[in-house]
Amino acid sequence: MPMFVDPSPPGQCIFCRLVAGEIPAAIVAQDELTIAFMDIGQVTPGHVLVATRRHAATLLDVTPQEAAAVLQTAQRVAQAVQAAFDPPGLTLLQANGAVGGQTVGHFHLHVVPRHADDGIHFTWPRQEPGAQVLQGYAERLRAQLCAQP
Ligand code: 5GP
Ligand code: ZN
Repeated sequence: MPMFVDPSPPGQCIFCRLVAGEIPAAIVAQDELTIAFMDIGQVTPGHVLVATRRHAATLLDVTPQEAAAVLQTAQRVAQAVQAAFDPPGLTLLQANGAVGGQTVGHFHLHVVPRHADDGIHFTWPRQEPGAQVLQGYAERLRAQLCAQP
């Protein structure tokens, strides 16, 4: 798990430079709010990143409109990936913060074609804490949602 996020300021990070055309990229699609381009490190062939055009570090920093636009672009890209590469599966991945697995601090979503035995493994230490604990977690979250503007 990477423990480092590129600390470049807004406008100077690698994806801002890519949006500005200052560094080369294999661009797949662009619109007012988003840009989709091939990940330089292809986990499987057809691996695309969908990013906001504006610099925003994480999911917590994008506007609702940007969040919706990124997912809409990702769906269009997924349809193109399906038609062009015909993978039997697709995984979307979006990392926030170094501990969350983020290495580039500019919001983006991975669209990854999946194949049997493609070498991708998620370790997911699943636990069932019980109904009472789940109700407590839900209560904490409902309180926060009620407090949102
Ligand atoms: P993260 O680890 O933050 O979720 O994903 C960052 C991704 O950006 C990595 O998969 C990495 O391969 C990709 N990446 C890093 N630098 C560049 C670059 O200069 N160009 C492109 N196209 N992708 C990059
Ligand atoms: Zn940026």
